[in-house]
Amino acid sequence: MRIYNIIKSTTVEGPGKRFCIWVQGCSKHCKSCFAKETWDFDGGIELSVEEIFAQIKEQKGIEGVTFLGGEPFEQVQELAQLSKLVKSIGLSIVCFTGYTIDELKNKNDKVINKFIGYIDLLIDGGFEIENLDYSRPWVGSSNQRFIYLTDRYNDKEVSKYKNKIEIHLDKNGGFEINGMGNFKELRDNFCLQLTKNNVK
Ligand code: SF4
Repeated sequence: MRIYNIIKSTTVEGPGKRFCIWVQGCSKHCKSCFAKETWDFDGGIELSVEEIFAQIKEQKGIEGVTFLGGEPFEQVQELAQLSKLVKSIGLSIVCFTGYTIDELKNKNDKVINKFIGYIDLLIDGGFEIENLDYSRPWVGSSNQRFIYLTDRYNDKEVSKYKNKIEIHLDKNGGFEINGMGNFKELRDNFCLQLTKNNVK
């Protein structure tokens, strides 16, 4: 599978603590996309389904796995295989997609339908700047819909969560930010703070 990034434990990409996988490659090219670096199908790194599943199994205390993009439905064969393994150890699956569920179902594709069958919560629709809305958890625009495909999650459960951003620091002074909110403002302020504190 082509992978853009993995964060092994985060609380801002779906319910509870989650192992998050940003897949590499997206042909949708939505005009407000803020993750254009994930479009190139030759970018990122190659990891097998087995390698990723081994990492997931090592991670203690997670509630589930979240797939983001790039576009997860561009690597549906591998994600269906991975999802089957993930579900076999009792973890939940949340998947973001730039497609609507109707677009996906209208493809009448056996593997797409199989993958959908493993997803507990599908968050559909690409980010749209003209519909900017940070009032719900994990999403940035009002067109994005929470579609509950199993009874694992529901609106009541989801409404307990707020939209948040996490900052992960590494021991070399690097950092990465994930979640949903005003990333530019945060990145600018955070860099300023690092400079003031003379952190390299
Ligand atoms: S589907 Fe997602 S990753 Fe792809 S262009 Fe649209 S917003 Fe960007």
